[in-house]
Amino acid sequence: MRVLVLNSGSSSIKFQLIETGAEMIASNTDRLLGKGIVERIGTDEASLRLQAPERQCKPDIAAMLDHHSALSRVVDSLRACDVISDISQIQAVGHRVVHGGEQFTHSVIIDEEVAKAIDHCSELAPLHNPHNLRGYYVARKLMPQVPQVAVFDTAFHQSIPPRAYLYGIPYTYYRRYKIRRYGFHGTSHRYVAYRFRQIFGKAREDVNLITCHLGNGCSVAAIEKGKSIDTSMGFTPLEGLVMGTRSGDLDPAIVLYLMSKDELTLHDVSTLLNKFSGLYGLSGESNDMRELLKAQERGDEQAKLAIDVFAYRIRRYIGAYAAALGRVDGLIFTGGIGENAPLVREKACERLSDLGFLIDPARNNQVLGKEGEISADISRARVMVVPTNEELLIARDTFRCVRGIPHPY
Ligand code: ADP
Repeated sequence: MRVLVLNSGSSSIKFQLIETGAEMIASNTDRLLGKGIVERIGTDEASLRLQAPERQCKPDIAAMLDHHSALSRVVDSLRACDVISDISQIQAVGHRVVHGGEQFTHSVIIDEEVAKAIDHCSELAPLHNPHNLRGYYVARKLMPQVPQVAVFDTAFHQSIPPRAYLYGIPYTYYRRYKIRRYGFHGTSHRYVAYRFRQIFGKAREDVNLITCHLGNGCSVAAIEKGKSIDTSMGFTPLEGLVMGTRSGDLDPAIVLYLMSKDELTLHDVSTLLNKFSGLYGLSGESNDMRELLKAQERGDEQAKLAIDVFAYRIRRYIGAYAAALGRVDGLIFTGGIGENAPLVREKACERLSDLGFLIDPARNNQVLGKEGEISADISRARVMVVPTNEELLIARDTFRCVRGIPHPY
């Protein structure tokens, strides 16, 4: 089945065309036929870039005033580059949807009712869900006969028990406003956990894992027998690890203190914690780990401090989740930083050998942007780097939903 995977944002659409099926999934031989991004939608100079194996595809710069014209051009470019011969070759569309609230525990085929429920969840993810939903409506207009599936970032974490998803505030706020931990990056955590089991030939029931997704946004998850039992992001993606520009955990009283001290408004505080904090706020120079690592090498103390805080927070979460799981068989790093920054992995695993995680420095330095083991032979748990592939899971979930195959999680 040829599945068009869409990640639709406010002014961009990321897409991949993936061929998948039952046998391809079993042998892990799904094929990426093409992938790309449209940016600056809504302007006269939107740009569309498409890459397809063994093909030279020209970038397309043109006016794309809305998501509909952008998606039409995506289909045109797939045709122009010979990835498909006709739109009818797209057999299903899979959408990344950020928030599924408590309602969606698995991926689902989108119908009017599901679309309404996704819209209802927009209150919890105002910057994402409306645009994800827009992707659905424009795809439906362009391909009315083609089934469409929603794959939620939050769904994998719906197995987290109340003791981990409730906050220590009056229970009435959970009842009234559904204030609780939802967690995000679920598709990424689920993918790397699946790969770990596949690499080591293990059954879901036999493996407990801690997965660290370290990209611009960062989160850690504790996965017991294939099910998420805790994760660091919470009611919103602001909680947990220190991130590129987000603060992660902090004493909530800091917000109150700053509001009164500097007379900050709600909007000011939100901007401060989401856009000017994290690596960027701590270093005072960049949210990009590559830049900070270079700056640290030049002797920049502030960059070193930012990296230290970042890595120490990860270490604390690994320790906490080892306690939550009791026994851990694997620790996995993924995301731009997790896949490419050995120094961060090394610092995140410092002093963890008694908990069962011991990195081999030479292996760690060799695994860059690829799958590989970085633990020492005597490490009790395997420490792995696994490049994430959320689009692949979205394509597979879409295939399963369309064919009515039960979800394997
Ligand atoms: P997103 O969450 O937007 O998908 P990525 O997963 O691409 O982001 O991760 C972005 C982060 O990965 C940035 O902080 C970037 O600096 C970092 N990164 C990418 N490549 C490297 C590298 N070679 N070394 C260190 N950090 C890297």
